[in-house]
Amino acid sequence: MSKDSILVINCGSSSLKFSVINPKTEEESINGLAERLGSSEASITWKVNGEKNTQQLGQAAHDAAIEALVGLLRDQNLMDRIEAIGHRVVHGGEKFTASTLITDEVLKGIEDCCHLAPLHNPAHLKGIRAAMKFFPGLPQSAVFDTAFHQTMPAESYLYAVPHSLYREHGLRRYGMHGTSYRFVSKAAADMLGLDYENSAILVAHLGNGASACAVKNGKSVDTTMGLTPLEGLVMGTRSGDIDPNVFSFLNKQCGYSLDEITEILNKKSGMLGLSELDNDCRAIEEAAAKGNERAQLTLDVFCNVLAKKLAGFAAEMGRIDALVFTGGIGENSSTIRKNVLNRLSIFGFEMDEAVNQEMFRGKNGVITKEGSPVAIVVATNEELMIARDTHGLVS
Ligand code: AMP
Repeated sequence: MSKDSILVINCGSSSLKFSVINPKTEEESINGLAERLGSSEASITWKVNGEKNTQQLGQAAHDAAIEALVGLLRDQNLMDRIEAIGHRVVHGGEKFTASTLITDEVLKGIEDCCHLAPLHNPAHLKGIRAAMKFFPGLPQSAVFDTAFHQTMPAESYLYAVPHSLYREHGLRRYGMHGTSYRFVSKAAADMLGLDYENSAILVAHLGNGASACAVKNGKSVDTTMGLTPLEGLVMGTRSGDIDPNVFSFLNKQCGYSLDEITEILNKKSGMLGLSELDNDCRAIEEAAAKGNERAQLTLDVFCNVLAKKLAGFAAEMGRIDALVFTGGIGENSSTIRKNVLNRLSIFGFEMDEAVNQEMFRGKNGVITKEGSPVAIVVATNEELMIARDTHGLVS
């Protein structure tokens, strides 16, 4: 049996997502999720040929989940097809500008970035170490969410704060969703017949976490997320940009502690906080359609912030060859896409309403009329990108 596939692993603090993908044919032979790791109710769920199965793992942490995954891959006769393992890693700081094979030095580098992503990097390290133990001899790679944005110029990534805070503590904008931006911007260029190395592509990655990126000549030149994923757009539960003095206001006026304010802005704000209904865009759209005014206002705030960011990025790049919508909302919500394009009419966007309505559940295509600047929906596939990078590194 030929080693034609990559095992892609995305480890969170209590979960582990996995899939086995052939980077050439793009075929996914299995995908799944181990959940509630660290509790006595840990379980692993997987899908093969459209059929879903679940196994309880009892008291299991990342190690036990990876051990269960080995058994599962053996049962499915997939073990011998795995060429290498690709790990999603959220934060690579300034050290990692591209995907890389994992060595002791790389592990140390990921560890050094833990203070920049305290919820994510330690979990990734657990997953990587467990994978090294249970898949001995298989090459492993790290694919960083931040790496694509390392091409941003200093004028985009620096905050106007005392420069020593950047020099001594790395306080700067890093951006996230880089693997998705790399995938969809190249895919859009290919679909539209653009020369990727000489193009200006705006991307709106709109999911429960949302950000936008200006991709010029195949490189990120600006993005909306910053030191952390809190900055930028309105999201499911994150506020996005706010006046930084909100912190002292909430502390002094309302008596909230630093941790409580961080929790409010990350977990209780965004669409959820504003609508007082839900963090899920679909639910807000349904409420708005039934006449709920706050739900409509929530959608309008979301789209207004996004349109302003996109317009700013267009000014930075000097032109727009394509505007790409991706992520759960970008790929599925004709309402949000229409609302945003209406706000960008200054650039001449004219939407093809009928085609816009048809774009959902993974369909790709142009949603603007002939003669208009191009807006296009492209389904993202971060796992495939990780599989391609990993295959590229080992071959
Ligand atoms: P993601 O984080 O990329 O999985 O995206 C999740 C978001 O996509 C949630 O806010 C969902 O409500 C949203 N979403 C998925 N399908 C639709 C849809 N048909 N219309 C509007 N939003 C959608």
